[in-house]
Amino acid sequence: MKQRPMEQIVTEAERHRRIFVLLESAYPQAGTGLRYDNPFQLFVAVLLSAQTTDKQVNRITAPLFAAVPTARAMAGLEPEELEPYLKSCGLFRNKSRYLVAASRMIVEDFGGVLPDNFADLTSLPGIGRKSANVILSAAFGKPALAVDTHVFRVARRLGLAGADSPAGVEDELKEKFPPHEWGPLHHRLIAHGRAVCQARRPQCARCVLKDCCAERRAAVAMADRSGPPQE
Ligand code: SF4
Repeated sequence: MKQRPMEQIVTEAERHRRIFVLLESAYPQAGTGLRYDNPFQLFVAVLLSAQTTDKQVNRITAPLFAAVPTARAMAGLEPEELEPYLKSCGLFRNKSRYLVAASRMIVEDFGGVLPDNFADLTSLPGIGRKSANVILSAAFGKPALAVDTHVFRVARRLGLAGADSPAGVEDELKEKFPPHEWGPLHHRLIAHGRAVCQARRPQCARCVLKDCCAERRAAVAMADRSGPPQE
């Protein structure tokens, strides 16, 4: 579908739609980089991914899942027995403790099956709001919108949200986009935050969203008001 020129886009709803469409075009394949075969494996990968790259998590989980494939198998270990698999991962001692404690809860309270709702997921050790939303969306195909550091930063710069907390940003994004777009929006904002709208040096000049970005518009307007530099 042919895009309308930005100057013809007058409402905020139109601007939000334009942002979504441009992100879709720029990052059509955006998705999780974590490898997993079932919801429990995604749960393990997500818990390990704190302060670690997806690539590093995949290097850890390949042998880990071969040796410890299920929640029941993991629940039968002591944290010290899990640590050798996780040693190349930041915070590996804490993560080992969380994984064993969470696996025991999954076995004892949920029949060995990872729960598929927000309240039960966030009752598991090591799983907060963001991780639960990632799992709900990617493992169970439920409408959920995880706000990580990239989503938080890029959404606020774009003027899609103004809240000071991830939960607030999540609520604002959910108000503006329909539920079936929450998962794709999450992945594409992350991709854009990594590739272009980086924390320290956003590359606005080459950004596909520069014409509909609130922060960029404000910066341009301020530069216009300031006029040319004084001699
Ligand atoms: S124009 Fe700049 S601040 Fe706005 S989304 Fe693009 S890179 Fe980020």
